[in-house]
Amino acid sequence: MKKVALITGASRGIGRACAVALAKRGYDIAVNYNSNDAKAKEVVDEITSLGRKAVAYKADTADLNAVKQMFRDVVKEFGKLDVLVNNAGVVDDAYLLMIREDSLTRSLDINIKGYFHCAQQAALKMLSKRSGKIINISSVSSVLAVEGQAVYSATKGAVNSMTAVMAKELAPKGITVNAVAPGFIATEMMDAIPEELKAKYLEQVPMHRFADPEEVANTVATLCSGDFSYLTGQTIVLDGGLSL
Ligand code: NAP
Repeated sequence: MKKVALITGASRGIGRACAVALAKRGYDIAVNYNSNDAKAKEVVDEITSLGRKAVAYKADTADLNAVKQMFRDVVKEFGKLDVLVNNAGVVDDAYLLMIREDSLTRSLDINIKGYFHCAQQAALKMLSKRSGKIINISSVSSVLAVEGQAVYSATKGAVNSMTAVMAKELAPKGITVNAVAPGFIATEMMDAIPEELKAKYLEQVPMHRFADPEEVANTVATLCSGDFSYLTGQTIVLDGGLSL
């Protein structure tokens, strides 16, 4: 039977790779994004060319009303929801003394509230069929102290904690919740990091390379498969050994 996945922040980077990886495994895909219409259309076209159905949904995950409408539209269009990948996130590094209120609010709204909004709506759609998988994209920064990332680390630490609690609450309903915490992944998010700093980070990764978004996507897709049916509440750190 066909399966349906909604991936937030799927117009670029890790979200896009997750959308394509799940489409390759037979899922129809709801492609959420915030602003980049052209990139979202590219993802829809790529998935359609794989023979799967894909529809783009523009919605700011920080906006509860927009999220509610998106989930209503997705279920109307696709008939059901099997997988949510909570991926849409932002990073805006600043040392503690330099943190601006608007940046702090935006990070908390998207990286924490956005995950709650989507997980809540997804669970509501999954409850009736007593099955579903929610994957939250966290970060190695949730378990590793990186200077300048107090806000980002706090939001990703929150993702790990919410994953465990949601998993406990939703397990009796047949819904599993897990997190994947990537290390350095070559996406546009990393473009903001100065080259000298990137070289320093590279030295710290025991595998001596950054990962491709597809390596995160393959982990997410595997977690969505039946092979991991008893796993819930866990955060898988996928960082080439960085946090060891
Ligand atoms: P990215 O390349 O910057 O892409 C971000 C995606 O999120 C875009 O599709 C963007 O949509 C969307 N987005 C941003 N704010 C949104 C909002 N409010 N509502 C809906 N969509 C929104 O990011 P990435 O590197 O792929 O990161 C994806 C996730 O992985 C994030 O949660 C990030 O924290 C995590 N992560 C990344 C790395 C890394 O090294 N890259 C490492 C660890 C964890 P538009 O294109 O429309 O703007």
